[in-house]
Amino acid sequence: METQTNEAKVEKSNKRSWNLEWDEYFMALAFLSAQRSKDPKTQVGACIVNNDKRIVGMGYNGMPNHCKGEDFPWGKGQTAEDNKHLYVCHAELNAVVNKIQADVRGCRMYVTLFPCNECAKIIVQSGLEEVIYYKMQDPPKEQIVKATKKIFEHGNIKLTEYKRERGTEFKIGPEDSIIL
Ligand SMILES: [Zn+2]
Repeated sequence: METQTNEAKVEKSNKRSWNLEWDEYFMALAFLSAQRSKDPKTQVGACIVNNDKRIVGMGYNGMPNHCKGEDFPWGKGQTAEDNKHLYVCHAELNAVVNKIQADVRGCRMYVTLFPCNECAKIIVQSGLEEVIYYKMQDPPKEQIVKATKKIFEHGNIKLTEYKRERGTEFKIGPEDSIIL
């Protein structure tokens, strides 16, 4: 009896006063995933979570499989076909196709940047129910933002801006930190 009481005391005093909230956890993972991106300008990460709070897909912006960096541009290039936008797979697309279950119907996506209209289509078609984004592009591309919002509105996607409630700062790279 004596021992049990002592253990209980230790456990109580060792209880952490701070731990990651679910939203912080999933958004932090999206940011961590973004750190894998080779894009020199914009690194985006996405994390798909099911209703049991299990992670079922992760992605970051990158070239298609087998398309090597030396053969594909990471900028606007000299000619029209040298533009990275023609080739890059966005984080949201990669998170959906990297899914580890049959489909992502009813799941939520955490993404570090407001999705473009192309990804908005993929999000609706894949059956996701909610998108939580960390921030808008700076400056925002108005036409794309409008199109994404319209697709989500009609496609029944709940769109939520991430709330930085606790202001926890994370260092996620040599030069980058995020506030969650
Ligand atoms: Zn996109």
